[in-house]
Amino acid sequence: MNLRESILQHRPFLIAGPCSVESPEQLRKTLALFPSLGIQLIRGGIWKPRTRPDSFEGIGSEGLAWLVEAGKEVGIPVATEVANRQHVDEALRAGVEVLWIGARTTVNPFAVQEIADALHGSSVSVMVKNPVNPDLELWLGAIERIENAGIKDVSAIHRGFSFYKHPVYRNVPNWEIPIALRERRPDIALICDPSHITGKRSLIAEVSQQAMDLNFDGLMIESHFDPDNACSDAAQQVTPETLKLILSSLVLRSKDASPEIAIQLEEIRSRISTLDDTVLGLIAERMTLSREVGEFKKENHIMILQQEHWWKVIREKLERAEPLDLSPAFIRQIMDAIHQESIRHQLEVVNKSK
Ligand code: PEP
Ligand code: MN
Repeated sequence: MNLRESILQHRPFLIAGPCSVESPEQLRKTLALFPSLGIQLIRGGIWKPRTRPDSFEGIGSEGLAWLVEAGKEVGIPVATEVANRQHVDEALRAGVEVLWIGARTTVNPFAVQEIADALHGSSVSVMVKNPVNPDLELWLGAIERIENAGIKDVSAIHRGFSFYKHPVYRNVPNWEIPIALRERRPDIALICDPSHITGKRSLIAEVSQQAMDLNFDGLMIESHFDPDNACSDAAQQVTPETLKLILSSLVLRSKDASPEIAIQLEEIRSRISTLDDTVLGLIAERMTLSREVGEFKKENHIMILQQEHWWKVIREKLERAEPLDLSPAFIRQIMDAIHQESIRHQLEVVNKSK
């Protein structure tokens, strides 16, 4: 199949299936509803990269034939994860139509290159998940390695990024990274995997909707006929019936507005643009004051970085931002950026006539 063309024809392009292939019966029970839900590609992990060695590490090679057979029964192509040369060889030999590279593999250029070398001469479609760490270049680099092996049909999957003890997500979305990927590679289809982002079924609908509103091309959702007893990722898998509800609740908003709506939108945007100009002007004014502080520190032989003072400023601004509905993470980011620019100005002033 040509995955990219297929993705562009169907919006949203829907990929679903169990985290791990467990048995022919599990596949049959899980996939039965899929044709009526418009699922275009079935996922099923055969080799599972698990965090701990005592967890289920996949059914292994014997599951490949079950997966391919189950796909044929419902008339939907199948995809599985590959992490080394042996996986690629076996999956291709079994007739798996689409391969994906998992997040734990994308981080490792040696592993990705080994997969790319094994793919040489094949015309299979490949999907590359983002690396576990929020590194756009690593993601792009993995995609390029696969393309350099002659694979024309490469797509990307956003599954979120590792975060130590995040209160909400299993993997934080960091939406700006897939958005930046899209800017750099507008030719590549982009799928969102809300199952691995959320880690819990109650949030899958919400994150799927966010992906649609951010112009993602499709979704990959883990589904199991009996999620609570799944061998892996039990908390995030949904029954096919729940999958049906999630899909039917998606609101697909159009990209292009009607002329009337476009005018109204333009009006709001121009007010935003005026405000942005004001913000820029204020920041420039603030930097003039930073330079004044720099002059003062220079004359009085005071060090530029006053850490204690800066912590106090951040604390104050965080408090101030709370009733304004500005997130603490945003305030941290914006204040850190302002501080960095302020230090640059002060360094210039302090070292000017040396
Ligand atoms: C998976 O898709 O089951 C998987 C292991 O995902 P990730 O590589 O995103 O962790
Ligand atoms: Mn999984």
